[in-house]
Amino acid sequence: MSINIKVTENFNSKLKDLDFNNIPFGKVFTDHMLEVDYANGKWGEPEIKPFGPFLMHPGNVALHYGQSIFEGMKATISKSGNPLLFRPEMHVERINESAKRMCMPTIPEELFMEGLKKLLYIDRAWIPSIDGSALYIRPFMFATDITLGVKPSDTYKFMILLLPVGPYYTRPVKLKAETIYVRAVAGGVGEAKTAGNYAAALFPTEIAISEGYDQIMWLDAKEFKYVQEVGTMNIFFVIGDKVITPITDGAILKGITRDTVIKILQDKGYNLEVRPVSIQEVVEANKSGNLKEVFGTGTAAVISKVAEISYGDLKLVIENDKFEVANMLYDQMVGLRNQSIEDKFGWIHEVTEQLVEA
Ligand SMILES: *Cc1c(COP(=O)(O)O)cnc(C)c1O
Repeated sequence: MSINIKVTENFNSKLKDLDFNNIPFGKVFTDHMLEVDYANGKWGEPEIKPFGPFLMHPGNVALHYGQSIFEGMKATISKSGNPLLFRPEMHVERINESAKRMCMPTIPEELFMEGLKKLLYIDRAWIPSIDGSALYIRPFMFATDITLGVKPSDTYKFMILLLPVGPYYTRPVKLKAETIYVRAVAGGVGEAKTAGNYAAALFPTEIAISEGYDQIMWLDAKEFKYVQEVGTMNIFFVIGDKVITPITDGAILKGITRDTVIKILQDKGYNLEVRPVSIQEVVEANKSGNLKEVFGTGTAAVISKVAEISYGDLKLVIENDKFEVANMLYDQMVGLRNQSIEDKFGWIHEVTEQLVEA
């Protein structure tokens, strides 16, 4: 191992308090976390230490101006008890794209990967083995300068947290196509996984929830004509014999699940189109009976079926008992992660003892 990682062991494990059959999402953290600081133009020595809170100066610039980015990935467990990562290099690439957009330093791939693998290996007993459950991984970085001046921070903290999660929310969702508020505009920060994007979505999402929907389907910010994405998911439509997903135009988060789904569909010979999708096309396809499936894709929910889309006064109901494409994709993704399906693309990385102890 070429990166020196300091390890301070947690001798007070909370694992015995975890009920693997009933894990509240986003609330349970493992015993350890990784932390590394950036100062004087370089990253320091990463440390894996007992999970816990830390003190923060009230003048921390990230709290005031939002220089803060994150990733979301998942680990499962192999039959021999080793952590399995899914396309981790894509997440390193993406956090570094987010970093550049937010004027933050990039993280060397080696630092990210070796830190993550060692942390995962140490907390591997926390990885759920029930199908659909996983260990959610939250790498994130935020500015740590103490100043109320608006300028890029000179210092940063990068951390990785681990959270066991149960099978996500599998009920088909109802979406509201949003015609007042917008999530992102090309040229803005919609492509970056940066904190403010999610804060900006809260208010319109609360309105949609109060109206009986689960999530918002965002339309483009210029004309409210083209479909962008949903919450923290990219979106796919099956219209006739075609599978269609919007092209990422600078305002849509480039989902790694989206990319995986595209590659599986291409490999299986589906008729796939990656292009702008207008809400009008979706409305007309529904009217003519050609709208066969609508589903979201993302690390947290994997594949989320859509039962209904409202658009102004229109309500598009989608018969979702037998979504063939969505079901096939869900089975593929779960099968790849539990190693019951051959990993012919080389997406799965097994974290072995030799990898972390060498
Ligand atoms: C993270 C995220 C996604 C899904 O990305 P994955 O890499 O598939 O998890 C989609 N949209 C938004 C806005 C996101 O933040």
